[in-house]
Amino acid sequence: MAETPSPKDPEKQVKAETNPKPAPARGGAEAKTKPAPAPAAPKAKADGAPRREAAAAKAAPTAKAAAKAKEPTAKGGAKAAATTAAAPPPEEYQEEAGGAFLHEAIRQTPAWLVSMVVHMVLILILAVWMVPPGDNKGLTQIVVAPPEKEQDQLEELIEEPIQQLDVETPLETVNIEADITKVPEMPKSDDLDAAAVHVDLDELGLDKAPRNDLLATVGTFTGNALDGRGKGKGQMVASGGGNAASERAVALALKWLAAHQLPDGGWSFNHALAPKCKGQCRNPGTELEARNAATAMALLPFLGAGQTHKQGQYKDTVKQGLYFLVSKMQVSPNGGSLLEGGRGQMYSHGLASIVLCEAYGMTHDKGLYNPAQQAVNFICYAQDPVGGGWRYQPRQAGDTSVVGWQIMALKSGHMAYLRVPPATVKKAFQFLDTVQANSGANYGYTDPGAGQATTAIGLLCRMYLGWKKDNPALQRGVKWLAQQGPSINVGAESANMYYNYYATQVMRHIEGEDWTKWNLVMRDSLIKSQMQKGHEEGSWFFKGEHGSEVGGRLYSTSLACMVLEVYYRHMPIYRTQSVEEAFPD
Ligand SMILES: [Zn+2]
Repeated sequence: MAETPSPKDPEKQVKAETNPKPAPARGGAEAKTKPAPAPAAPKAKADGAPRREAAAAKAAPTAKAAAKAKEPTAKGGAKAAATTAAAPPPEEYQEEAGGAFLHEAIRQTPAWLVSMVVHMVLILILAVWMVPPGDNKGLTQIVVAPPEKEQDQLEELIEEPIQQLDVETPLETVNIEADITKVPEMPKSDDLDAAAVHVDLDELGLDKAPRNDLLATVGTFTGNALDGRGKGKGQMVASGGGNAASERAVALALKWLAAHQLPDGGWSFNHALAPKCKGQCRNPGTELEARNAATAMALLPFLGAGQTHKQGQYKDTVKQGLYFLVSKMQVSPNGGSLLEGGRGQMYSHGLASIVLCEAYGMTHDKGLYNPAQQAVNFICYAQDPVGGGWRYQPRQAGDTSVVGWQIMALKSGHMAYLRVPPATVKKAFQFLDTVQANSGANYGYTDPGAGQATTAIGLLCRMYLGWKKDNPALQRGVKWLAQQGPSINVGAESANMYYNYYATQVMRHIEGEDWTKWNLVMRDSLIKSQMQKGHEEGSWFFKGEHGSEVGGRLYSTSLACMVLEVYYRHMPIYRTQSVEEAFPD
């Protein structure tokens, strides 16, 4: 989008950074009173102003043109009426001039004055008498003939602009952008009812059911699944299997991530572009176009640790990152798309959607409601209408990897009380059926199979979509993962972090012996393999899977950090929380 500065344009970047500041109060006030204010939209943001002004300028002339167009016709009509009314004036004159009062007046006035008045009256009468015949011709030529054409032209003038308005539908875009722009400007509004506020998005929103059955079955996950990121975090770390060293690693990772934010608020898989880095860290990724994906991957560990744009030492970092993502959103009747260049377009959208949904769910920031819901809407639109999956492009037949991120996003949206249609979730569930093997214990990529990462993704999705802990297929799948163990070779700096990320979550939710064993290996090998000095301190880089080349050090660091946040990032699905939390070990 034009208003989002490219990383190559530092001046604009500075603008983008400073722009959110001028109008926070206004944005907030508007958000409180009118979550989706159509008329207030143009004022909302300084940064978007040029664009919106342009739109307004477009709209204004057309409106003026219409008004002008109407005015002349009305005037023309009035003139016509006036001229017809002017036709009989002689009679009126005679009536007035012939009054007794006039005779009396004449008698009392000096002769020269009477003479003058009489002459003037005569001249006037003559003029009126003489003009009409000639003027009538003129009128028929000028008033009658041209007005018809003029009116045609005017009608054309009126019609065209109105059609333009309809065709371009700039109003919708303008509205939503205006809402989007409120995100970084959000002042404190810790309104717990935020999620319940109904905002008319567009007609697409009407298909969205308020709750969905499948996700609703995950009872403990409704609304409070992110609670572990808050005050109870320390306890969650201890009871979940983390320790001071793992928390230190998380803190270092966040520091590294914050230091590699670009001036426009986003991140790049080429972390070396960051002004503070300037290539001091090795292993940049190759997927340079995927700024949304990189930004989302950088933000997720912050959110996972309870750092939001409202709370924590990285408030500004998170705020700028959210602003970057939201400003990249392209809204259409299909929802708000965060697709971008590069190969994995729906990866980008899914990742960024998780960020928006989590940030909204954690802060109840009304300014994030629209972007988050729009992102969810786009996922629904982009689902393969036949197979129920997702792939790189919207509506392609799905693969398990892309499906995983979309389901996580839907789940995050659901937890944040956004509208997630049951039909979408059911279809996604059906997609998993088509790639499962061993009766649901293993999962393939686009066909039935038993890949490590795809199995972990498939099982986690099944858990979120309602499989109970005692589901035989789930139990067999978990045993299979436990046998595989975490994928990490500290000495060789190699690991499949993508697999580790999903599998660790599966094991964590299952808990028990398998989890304890898994966690010891996973946790300690990550702590050991984290860079401890130099500019790379706090980061990781693992070879060993496709994603690590594409995403580089940022990708490895993000996933490793989230693995170490597993103790509190999500509440365990199958735990009776109240009991466990009331009586910690
Ligand atoms: Zn660096």
